[in-house]
Amino acid sequence: MLIRHKGNFRWENISLLAYKEEGNCFRDITRQILFEGAANIPCQLRYFEIASGGHSTLEHHEHLHLVIIARGEGHVLIGDEIHSVRENDVMEIPSHTWHQFRATSDNPLGFYCIVNIERDRPVRPSEDDLKYLRRKPEIAAFIRT
Ligand code: MN
Repeated sequence: MLIRHKGNFRWENISLLAYKEEGNCFRDITRQILFEGAANIPCQLRYFEIASGGHSTLEHHEHLHLVIIARGEGHVLIGDEIHSVRENDVMEIPSHTWHQFRATSDNPLGFYCIVNIERDRPVRPSEDDLKYLRRKPEIAAFIRT
C-alpha cells in the first residue's frame, strides 16, 4: 500500500479535514489521516498543519502522542515546559500531560502524530487548571484557550 505524496504535504486520495469536529479552542489547523490502523499495528497516523499564528487545543488525555515535526517552526507546551521545535524533532507527549502546539507568526507548523486507534477523549482545562498552568509567567503568556 502506497500513499503517494503530491507535494506540499498533500497526498493522493487523502482528504483535507478539519482539525476537530467541534469546538473553538483551536485555530487554523488541518488534519489528514494517512493510516487508519490494522490488527497488528493498532494506531492512526495523522498529519496536522497549523497555519502561521494558529494553535492546537490545550488539552490532556490518557493516550500518548508520538509527534514528528515535518515542516516549519513552532513551539510546544508539554507539561510545564515550552520547547521551540523544528523539522525532524521527535517528541512523546506522555499520558495526562497538558500540551498545546503553536506555529510561529511567520511559519506554518506541520507534524505527523501517531496515536492509538482506541483512545479516550481529550480533557480541556478548568478554571482551576488554568490558574495552575498560569502560575508560570511564560506559560501564562503562551497558552491559548
Ligand atoms: Mn492531544
